Amino acid sequence: MNLKKRILSCILILVLLALVCLVGVLQGGTLSVFGRELEMKDSRKIALTFDDGPHPFYTEQLLNGLKERGVKVSFFITGKNVEAYPEIVKRIHEEGHLIGNHTYNHTQLTGKNHESFKQELIRTNEAIREVTGEDTIYVRPPYGSWNREFEKELNMFPVLWTIDPLDWCSSDVSRIVRNVCAKVEENDIVLMHDQYKTTVTAALKIVDELQEEGYEFVTVDELLFD
Ligand SMILES: [Zn+2]
Repeated sequence: MNLKKRILSCILILVLLALVCLVGVLQGGTLSVFGRELEMKDSRKIALTFDDGPHPFYTEQLLNGLKERGVKVSFFITGKNVEAYPEIVKRIHEEGHLIGNHTYNHTQLTGKNHESFKQELIRTNEAIREVTGEDTIYVRPPYGSWNREFEKELNMFPVLWTIDPLDWCSSDVSRIVRNVCAKVEENDIVLMHDQYKTTVTAALKIVDELQEEGYEFVTVDELLFD
């Protein structure tokens, strides 16, 4: 075989190998090489969640930063803010983030307000549907107070959290970042609030730091049902 032929055969083999790898990756999770399946390590997934918005200024700053980084998160919004800032809700939806219900007036469920709490969830679902054209089945009950009866009655699913960096009571960005990055593990759900400039800055730093560590940011539905 002359040199030219050898080089050509090498190139051909490399192209074939690249195709085999590509097919394997496309099949997701496992890599097929000549009929043998090699397990590929799944990336570690976590979800950032933002409550109480949208905020007329900070939510869009957050959306800009998330878009630059190709990251999707989950927003639990109140009905009154959906009505006040429908354009921002529309943008959240169009950019592929998950939208969940956080009651109409940010109401805490108590022993006495079962019916009015339920009405707040329904009213907020309607407001979200009006803007996005889609129903949401996810609810983050304010302060975590929930009654499982709502799950059947309204076909809604509560989403709580596993890391609370207390972003709402700190103006120290690096402390908020540390509160998340020092504790984070696979499948964590992080509670934050897009009501503060510090939260926006901290959230984007958290994304940068954890992406470098190999974490993948997903919406909460991917963690709850996968
Ligand atoms: Zn809240």
